Amino acid sequence: MNETRADASPDETTRRPWWHGAALYQIYPLSFADSDGDGWGDLPGVTQRLEHVARLGVDGIWLSPFFKSPMNDFGYDCEDYCAVDPRLGTLADFDALLARAHALGLKVLIDQVYTYSSNRHPWFEESRSSRDNARHDWYVWADAKPDGTPPNNWQSIFGGAAWEWDVNRRQYYLTHFYPEMPHLNVNNPKVQHALLEVADFWLARGVDGFRLDVINLAMVDPGLRDNPSVGGEFDFPTEAQLHLYDRSWPDNLGFMRQIHSRVKAKPDRHTLAELTLETPRDKNMAYLAPGHLDTAYFVLSPAETPLSAAGLGRLLDEILGFGVWPTWAFSNHDIVRGLTRCGGETPDPRLAELLIAILVCLRGNLLVYQGDELGLPHADVPRDRLRDREGMRFYPHSLKRDGARTPMPWATAKPGGVEPWLPYDARHLALNAQTQEQVSDSTLAATRGWLALRRALPVLREGSFESQPLDEPLLGWTRALDGKKLLCLFNVGAAPLTHRLSVDGPLQMVHATSDARLEGHTLHLPPFAAVVLRQQG
Ligand code: BGC
Repeated sequence: MNETRADASPDETTRRPWWHGAALYQIYPLSFADSDGDGWGDLPGVTQRLEHVARLGVDGIWLSPFFKSPMNDFGYDCEDYCAVDPRLGTLADFDALLARAHALGLKVLIDQVYTYSSNRHPWFEESRSSRDNARHDWYVWADAKPDGTPPNNWQSIFGGAAWEWDVNRRQYYLTHFYPEMPHLNVNNPKVQHALLEVADFWLARGVDGFRLDVINLAMVDPGLRDNPSVGGEFDFPTEAQLHLYDRSWPDNLGFMRQIHSRVKAKPDRHTLAELTLETPRDKNMAYLAPGHLDTAYFVLSPAETPLSAAGLGRLLDEILGFGVWPTWAFSNHDIVRGLTRCGGETPDPRLAELLIAILVCLRGNLLVYQGDELGLPHADVPRDRLRDREGMRFYPHSLKRDGARTPMPWATAKPGGVEPWLPYDARHLALNAQTQEQVSDSTLAATRGWLALRRALPVLREGSFESQPLDEPLLGWTRALDGKKLLCLFNVGAAPLTHRLSVDGPLQMVHATSDARLEGHTLHLPPFAAVVLRQQG
């Protein structure tokens, strides 16, 4: 669907670490590929499909959890940080996956979950056994108020009070998510030490870095003070509070520095943070200051349909204005897929390529979530097939995460054997990878084209970024490096547009979605089109 119309030969650069400007592909292993037909994706399945990932032209993968888990939160609730869940395989399977990825030139980032564990983790079993065992202070325990209610007003992100009663200790423990996920007392240096040993375990196995799960939640105010209210209406109680005391506690930055020095003790390792968005945003940016974490991911266009150039532009300017190195994403396993979020219930298929083009042209790193390269809309999961407890509890006003976690459609028909843990969406099967492989103007081919462009042009990976003042629905910016300047322009609207560019000197088309035309300085863009122009002189 796209064309490279002028020289896109590689420029010279040797200065940057591999992750600087990298494109990573997120794999949710429970839904990527099921090698043994038991209905659950697994590590051997991932290994078998890594060639598909390598052929996309990404630099590496972020592999979501595969650790031993009771699966209350599908692997984020770790029962053992250093073991593979039997549903997904064995440690030997993980080693094979890593070796295959490296052989294909792919780096491997894995999740690390340092803010909470499963209640089945032996640390918690011990901690809850008495008030004076060796790990009694490895989780955040607190007495009830005299009237029996929880110690403060903190709210769980998945609904209800952030405290769960334990009858054995006759105390509450903190839980930001499900009650089965007790919050680790990361303020305790012994806990920090144990978590860093987990990091060492995986670094020694050869992983290239970590995605650090909700890492700004790790430490909390030891005084457990009430959060103030922000006032106004809210859908979920967590939105009603200013998270002064239960998130981004200042001492947590010291732990980030420890993580940094531990990870960076090995060459070429990388850290990617997941942060809850804070008010003010500076609180997030402190995590990305030198000596802390390399980057964090930011989801583009969180809640807008249709897509607006102004909305996207504001977010880009705001984050890049902090001078940090962001990682951009339209989709992941926790949100409605970008195509549906930006394009509504029946998104224009051309939008899928536009979203990839935007990511490829941005300053920072980028994340492609499994299936986005096929242009998958968010899946419809019938109510009786939902798996995510948040989704069941708040149906139909939930996060709808199951729709982002349905199995990857590798072929036209769903595989035989056991019904998968989440159902296939019929629209996904029609967009399957095997069929797209045979079609030259598929979203898959277009994705490869855009990612190849980024690999070929260091100015896209590393160049400066300057947004252009343009009228809706045109979005645009320039990227510049070593005297080379690109103009990246996107029609984020559903109607064609013509735009006269007011720049000096000749322009040359470098890459574009199909049917975009440049006549002198006049650009003709079909709906959801993207162009990269080289500015000369
Ligand atoms: C993960 C979610 C998970 C949550 C709590 C998040 O950051 O990305 O999938 O539900 O942590 O475990």
